[in-house]
Amino acid sequence: MTGTKYSPRELIDKLISFDTTSHKSNLDLIAFVRNYLTGWGVESLLLPNDDGSKANLYATIGPRKPGGIVLSGHTDVVPVEGQDWSTDPFSVVERDGLLFGRGTCDMKAFLAIALAKVPDLVERSLSTPVHFALTYDEEVGCLGVRPLAEHIKRHLPLPAIVIVGEPTEMTVVNAHKSGHRFITEITGLEGHSSLPDKGVNAIMVAGEMLGEINRIAEEFKSQTDRDPRFDTPYTSVHVGLIEGGTALNIIPLKCTIDWEARGLPGFEASEVVDRMNAYAAEHVVPQMHAISPKTGIVTEHTDEIPALVPQDGSPAETLVMALARQNETFAVSYQTEAGYFQAIDIPTVICGPGSIAQAHKPDEYVSLDQVESCSKFMDRLVAHASS
Ligand SMILES: [Zn+2]
Repeated sequence: MTGTKYSPRELIDKLISFDTTSHKSNLDLIAFVRNYLTGWGVESLLLPNDDGSKANLYATIGPRKPGGIVLSGHTDVVPVEGQDWSTDPFSVVERDGLLFGRGTCDMKAFLAIALAKVPDLVERSLSTPVHFALTYDEEVGCLGVRPLAEHIKRHLPLPAIVIVGEPTEMTVVNAHKSGHRFITEITGLEGHSSLPDKGVNAIMVAGEMLGEINRIAEEFKSQTDRDPRFDTPYTSVHVGLIEGGTALNIIPLKCTIDWEARGLPGFEASEVVDRMNAYAAEHVVPQMHAISPKTGIVTEHTDEIPALVPQDGSPAETLVMALARQNETFAVSYQTEAGYFQAIDIPTVICGPGSIAQAHKPDEYVSLDQVESCSKFMDRLVAHASS
C-alpha cells in the first residue's frame, strides 16, 4: 500500500491552510484527511452534524479489537476577526524557530504530527490498534465530541486510552475543571414606572438573585478543600451577561442572568441550582406572587462540559508519561474534550505540543522544538503499538 508521505511540517502547513473557524465548515479538511488515509488503505468513519456542514472522523489502524490508543483532536479553530495578525493566519510562516498560523498550537500541529505517522503505522503489523478521532465545534462548546463518544460507546470496540492533544508543552495533564452554564430567568409584571407597587420589577428582583450568586461564589472561595494544582484553586462562579427591561418608564417584565461555574472535579451543579431555586421560593417569590401569580424565578443548568477527573496510575497516565518521558502530572484551567471520553469509561489524559498561552491569540505559534518533541513522542507510540 503506498499513499502520499508527508513530513509533520508539510502536514501542519496543509491543515492550517483549511480555514476551519468554528462557524465555517470543516469538510474540506476532513475530505483531505480521509483521502490521505484511503491512500494508505485506512477506512474512515464520518459522523456528520445535523445539517451536514461539518463532520467528525474516526479511523483505526491495526487489529479490530477492543483496546488501543486514540489520538484525539478538534479540527476547528477560533476566529481571527478583530485580531491584529502580522501574517496570513491560514498560511504557516516560519520565523526564528516558530511556526505562526491559526491553529498551530490549538491544535492542528498535534493532529498533523500524528497523521504523519500513518505510513509507519500501516507498514508495521500493529499488536495494539491506533485510532484517530477528529472532531468539529470544540471551540463552541465541545459539540462534535458528544455524538462521537456516544457512537464509540455503542457501536465500536472500546479503546483503552485516549490522548487529547491540546497544548501542554508535551507535559502530561490528568485533570481539568468542569464548565457549567446556568440561566436564571425572572418574570415580573409590566406596568407604568409611576406605579411601582402595581408591578413586579424583574431587574430589581434580579438584584436579589445576584446577591445569592455572590454569596455562593464567596462560599466556594472560602472553602478549605482547595486544589492548589488549579490556577484558581477553588470552584469559581461568574456572571457573564444580564439582559432585561424595555425602557426607563416601563416596569421591566423580564430579566435573564447568564452565569457559569467552573468546578473542581466532584462539583455538583444540581446543588447550586437547588440552592438558587430554594432561595427564590423562600425569600423572593412570595412577595412577587402577592402582586401577581404569573410572576416567577427559574434557574436552570443549561450546559455542561465534564471535568477531567484525575485517575492516578491509570493506563493512560502510565503509558503517556513513559512516552512523553515525564515523571509528574499537571492540572489545567481550560476545558477540553477529555471528560467526554472519560465519561464512556476510557482513561484519558491531555498531552500535546505548544503552549495554551499562545492559543486563541493573534500570531499564534508552535515552536519547531515542540514539533520535534511531539514527533519523537509519536515515534515511541508507534514502536509501543507494534511491540
Ligand atoms: Zn483546543
